[in-house]
Amino acid sequence: MSDTPIIIVGAGAAGIGAALECKARGVPYIVLEAANRVGGRAYTAAAGLPAAWDHGCHWLHCADVNPLVEWADKLGATYRSQDVANPFQVWDGGAFADAQGVQDYGSAIDRAFETVEASGLDVPIPDVLPDAGRWEPSVKLILALMAGDDATGVSASAYADYVDTEHDWPVLSGCGALITAMAQGLNIRTGVAVKAIHQREGGAIVTTDQGDLEASGVIVTASTNVLARGAIHFAPGPAADLVFQLDRVPCGIYEKVAFAMDALPDEIAQTRFLSVQQSGHDMATNFQIMHGDAPMMLCHMAGSYAHALVMAGPEAMTDYARGALIDAFGTRIEDLIIATATTDWTNDPLVLGSYSHALPGSAQFRRDMITRDTGRVVFAGEAFSPNWQATAHGAYASGRDVAGRMAALVS
Ligand SMILES: Cc1cc2nc3c(=O)[nH]c(=O)nc-3n(C[C@H](O)[C@H](O)[C@H](O)COP(=O)(O)OP(=O)(O)OC[C@H]3O[C@@H](n4cnc5c(N)ncnc54)[C@H](O)[C@@H]3O)c2cc1C
Repeated sequence: MSDTPIIIVGAGAAGIGAALECKARGVPYIVLEAANRVGGRAYTAAAGLPAAWDHGCHWLHCADVNPLVEWADKLGATYRSQDVANPFQVWDGGAFADAQGVQDYGSAIDRAFETVEASGLDVPIPDVLPDAGRWEPSVKLILALMAGDDATGVSASAYADYVDTEHDWPVLSGCGALITAMAQGLNIRTGVAVKAIHQREGGAIVTTDQGDLEASGVIVTASTNVLARGAIHFAPGPAADLVFQLDRVPCGIYEKVAFAMDALPDEIAQTRFLSVQQSGHDMATNFQIMHGDAPMMLCHMAGSYAHALVMAGPEAMTDYARGALIDAFGTRIEDLIIATATTDWTNDPLVLGSYSHALPGSAQFRRDMITRDTGRVVFAGEAFSPNWQATAHGAYASGRDVAGRMAALVS
């Protein structure tokens, strides 16, 4: 076996998965991470609030088959694996919905997802949706959160490639903290930005902001937006050809506003999610409710209105979310808010968005790009997961798979 390492670009869930696979196989590797921390879109931080919270991934989706659950158990992360009796509350233009209303809301959302999953059409998601009637604003928002962007720009067929087992467990101790802990002991150099990759016979030269490195193979895990915008130069060849087309699988917009609360209002003391449908808004505003010693309400916003807010800045994002809370609870809610914080994945130069989706007409392109032969410079990450795209476990599994294939190729 050659001593020349496989170079892994990026230490998010995919890069960490790839490194663990190389380590398990005894293949030399180095992970180069431009940021000064590992984790990428997996990031748990307090950021001025009383308790830490996940800026990016928080849920172990498909938890019954999610490979990160084993890591969570091994590393002592805490998660909630039991369903909650009444997870939803909905406020609809003036009042909280009664039990029947909440049930209808849930049915409208289930119907929308079932229709998208059954459609098989490579067209914008709204083209296949049934009429959700009164619950249209909530359906629109949930679809945008799941796709990471406005549903109008997302292929229904590609979205339906995701295989959902419908077990979703929140990581109470932080999903970002879990993925960061998985990187302990790996050969990772942080603060090193990869600038260019030149594939050549038997490997590649990787140019960084700190000099050149020789690689037996390269696994690139930067987001599709980072790659499509040319942050890394690829010498002409199959990898460059693929990067040139990655704007067909862009990362959209999904951001959070966190409200640290002195206490939670009684109306939501038993629930986990609140959807606020305000008159004059064609999309609802969604809050995740975190119970415990340091309660929080996390506003999740996605798509074009979230884009406008994030570009206007943290104050605009916070005011928007606060406005929905005031509509639902009155100004008394303001006395319960201790502190606020916001995410900004959209403007983070090392991410530039939320997570990937295929544009309408690009479903088959997405499937093909995952299996395309690009020689010794290959790609992994959430966008390259066949059936768990857009997720942390999908990124991790993609990293492990791709590294396994690269290790076999270079050994
Ligand atoms: C708001 C939000 C909520 C989410 N919620 C969930 C959830 O609940 N559950 C779930 O499973 N998923 C969720 N996700 C998605 C999940 O976080 C991502 O799919 C996953 O973390 C992506 O991992 P990755 O390794 O593919 O990419 P990344 O995490 O983006 O890792 C790529 C790494 O490459 C680095 N990099 C970029 N350019 C360079 C360069 N030139 N040189 C060196 N390094 C570079 C970056 O700094 C980064 O660390 C969420 C994402 C967001 C944004």
